[in-house]
Amino acid sequence: MKVVTARINKKSICIIALFLTAVCVLTAFSVKLSAENAEQKRTESSSEDAKIQAENTETECFMKDKNGNAYFPKSDVTVYLTFDDGPSKNTPQILSLLKKYGIGATFFVTNGKYNEYMKDIVDSSSAIALHSYSHKYPEIYSSEKAFLDDLEKIHDLVQKETGVDARIIRFPGGSSNTISKKYCKGIMTKLVKDVEKSGYIYFDWNCENGDAGGKNVSADNQIKNATKYSKKAKSIVILMHDIDSCGVNLEALSGIIEFYQNEGADFGVITENSPLVRHKVKN
Ligand SMILES: [Zn+2]
Repeated sequence: MKVVTARINKKSICIIALFLTAVCVLTAFSVKLSAENAEQKRTESSSEDAKIQAENTETECFMKDKNGNAYFPKSDVTVYLTFDDGPSKNTPQILSLLKKYGIGATFFVTNGKYNEYMKDIVDSSSAIALHSYSHKYPEIYSSEKAFLDDLEKIHDLVQKETGVDARIIRFPGGSSNTISKKYCKGIMTKLVKDVEKSGYIYFDWNCENGDAGGKNVSADNQIKNATKYSKKAKSIVILMHDIDSCGVNLEALSGIIEFYQNEGADFGVITENSPLVRHKVKN
């Protein structure tokens, strides 16, 4: 009888020991599993946060350069230097001055004697945009068709010279010009819609150096004019001219760039993603 009890006791101890081992193994396994789950959830939620943050950052802070690459502006004010009516004999000097400051500008070009400089604009850190082929107000503003034909001609010329399918435009005289009324009443109201329908985006300006008066404006006065801007503006689009005579002078351009650099502003070129700066249409 004693032998039987001893055998049963030994058997029970073995079963209890086996049971306890199994419980320990299972507990350890489930603790490990729940730790892994928590870690996975943490990773998922932090990558979700990062995604949301990246999306917000993209809409709030990113800007895009002329090649469509995103970059962070250094400040919340961006200055866009723009030159109308070029290229001219002065274009190479303007480009090398911009290079010296490490910035680019936007050139709204016309057909002229120096079309070969269009390629130099594109090859620098500047951007090319369209102004007019003939720049003759009585012709281009005589009808919608006349304007769009002229625009297509400058578009094709730029594409031939540079390979760029330029989509940013500026109306001769700006969208607010009233001189067009002389040739066709109400034409600007129609053209602002026509050009958008044809896949172009037009830009005016909200600051200028005043070199368009046809007479030489001193460097001091060009700087004074180009540095008068609304403190509320986040985008300062400065109109200047790239013409053989009476355009921007290099001393003035240096002064204008240094003024805005000292203000901590960023310099940009106009792209399809730039905030629109437009006038009120008056014809
Ligand atoms: Zn012009």
